[in-house]
Amino acid sequence: MNNESLEDIAGEIINCRRCGLWKNRLKAVPGEGNPNSRVMFIGEAPGRQEDIQGRPFVGRAGELLTELIESIGLRREEVFITNVVKCRPPNNRDPTEEEINTCLPYLKRQIEVIRPEVIVTLGRHAAKTISREAGIRFRGITRERGRAVETELYGRRIVIFYTYHPAAALYNPKLEEVLRKDFEKLRGYINSRKRRRGTLEDFI
Ligand code: URA
Repeated sequence: MNNESLEDIAGEIINCRRCGLWKNRLKAVPGEGNPNSRVMFIGEAPGRQEDIQGRPFVGRAGELLTELIESIGLRREEVFITNVVKCRPPNNRDPTEEEINTCLPYLKRQIEVIRPEVIVTLGRHAAKTISREAGIRFRGITRERGRAVETELYGRRIVIFYTYHPAAALYNPKLEEVLRKDFEKLRGYINSRKRRRGTLEDFI
């Protein structure tokens, strides 16, 4: 039984100084959404807008993510959205291995509280990190995207669904098309799981 709450974890994240990213942040970004969601979206790290607002995916990439979530019949508030790294790397550089590993216990605890059925990784950092945690081989985002992999993560059966990061699609219409197709696949996947459970109850 896990008695921890997402608020406890968020409280720690907001005051965290475990790596150097706290020095440049305006706000840490723990994540937000439905604590009982069966679907969890994991991005890379906060960008400028997220750092200002303390909320995940609220900039341009976030607008696209919100639209994609809605395009498959879900609402943003119904799912949980977070990042691998909870503070913005300066100038939006890639997070380092060390920053990812230092921050990872927070994500692990969030996953253990939420107990999602499906984790959607957005981009290669989330894909690589979650694959590694699940002990499965990651062959690069171009090969893995659009795939749903059933595996074990932190002692529970789970599905990892890989797709591109929405920010990548902002500058590349071809990638946006692929991302939209991936979300359609995700919708089909979620619906088939709903049916397999033999209930029409709300998936979320
Ligand atoms: N990009 C991310 O990976 N996460 C955010 O929260 C915003 C942009």
